[in-house]
Amino acid sequence: MLDTVIRNATLPDGRRGMDIAIRAGRIAEVAPGIDAEAGEVIDAGGMLVTPPFVDSHFHMDATLSLGMPRLNRSGTLLEGIALWGELKPQLTVEAMVERALRYCDLAVTRGLLSIRSHVDVSDPTLRTAEAMIEVRETVAPYIDLQLVAFPQDGYLRAPGAVELMDRALDMGLDVVGGIPHFERTMGEGAESVAALCRIAAERGLRVDLHCDESDDPMSRHVETLARETLRHGLQGRVAGSHLTSMHSMDNYYVSKLLPLMAEAEIAAIANPLINITLQGRHDTYPKRRGLTRVPEMMAAGLTVAFGHDCVMDPWYPLGSGDMLEVASMGLHVAQMTSRTGMREVFDTVTVNAANAIGLEGYGLAPGCHADLVILQASDPVEAIRLRATRLVVMRRGRVVARSAPAVADLFVEGRPGSVDPASYAPKAAEVAGD
Ligand SMILES: [Zn+2]
Repeated sequence: MLDTVIRNATLPDGRRGMDIAIRAGRIAEVAPGIDAEAGEVIDAGGMLVTPPFVDSHFHMDATLSLGMPRLNRSGTLLEGIALWGELKPQLTVEAMVERALRYCDLAVTRGLLSIRSHVDVSDPTLRTAEAMIEVRETVAPYIDLQLVAFPQDGYLRAPGAVELMDRALDMGLDVVGGIPHFERTMGEGAESVAALCRIAAERGLRVDLHCDESDDPMSRHVETLARETLRHGLQGRVAGSHLTSMHSMDNYYVSKLLPLMAEAEIAAIANPLINITLQGRHDTYPKRRGLTRVPEMMAAGLTVAFGHDCVMDPWYPLGSGDMLEVASMGLHVAQMTSRTGMREVFDTVTVNAANAIGLEGYGLAPGCHADLVILQASDPVEAIRLRATRLVVMRRGRVVARSAPAVADLFVEGRPGSVDPASYAPKAAEVAGD
């Protein structure tokens, strides 16, 4: 006897007419026409069923704080950091927890069930860490929240940051963070990368650094990160976030850098909404896009994920918890408009993101957690195009959110009475291939 069976699903890999059997919070079987009794039957109606969305880069401690204490007028990363510095002394654990929980409510309805959040640990009170640990425990039944100890004001630059990193990790934060491009010099940035990788190796933790988040073509921190990853045997456990300087780097240098990153098995986490917004602010025209070299890194065999980074905070006034919006922006900025390219972009907010942050039991294979989303879209490309409605969101075999299909009534003579945006899927494009 099964707990649930989902009938007539289309899977991200293109298989259609599949049933998904669920027992005890796990996926028991994925096959056409599963013939077994089930407590509940959910008809996917041929729509796409995907593992949940994963946000591999976020700032939960700052989310929904837009306008406190004022807005970012220049729109730059540096004013955002300064503004956050003004806000920090006013933050309370209670208010941070409340904002974070509200965001997590929204995330669940968007089918976003795993989030890696950087947590600013540069204030000696470590209120941010205390608040986010509380949130991690509270949301554990419905969201996997990973916490990165992030020295926002610089690991070597800010007084006390070295000791605060240790204290934050002792409190139970999960991942070692850093911000080498914000240290005083390129040399001190490199020194911080070496020190942070050493800490991770000693503590058996993963690393995720804000790395080369500038338009400086000479920024070299991801190279150092790859070297230190190899030195400490951290292959497959390290992520470089942003990597925007790679947009502006010399092509010859990048041709040497990418194989080094592949050797170190570094995951690259780009944040398209934020990168296109914050980078290029010192340019006149032409104005650089700032997004790192996504298709080139994929071709080099690197795991590339996209993060949301910010939702209504000192760095970004918009955002909606919708990883399909993130995917859509990344797809456009990286010009990944081939059929293959668009399907690869869907992976950046699902399976690649899960791999980048080391999630276990993720996917639709038998034995995986029964975490999934039924989308009002016939395939991954349509999901991105439509930013499709999340019809059903399931966590450990239990439905945790539902949305009504987006179907509009139409009152135009001689035309149909309703319009379903998901009915426009271009059959010919699939037949025509890539
Ligand atoms: Zn960030």
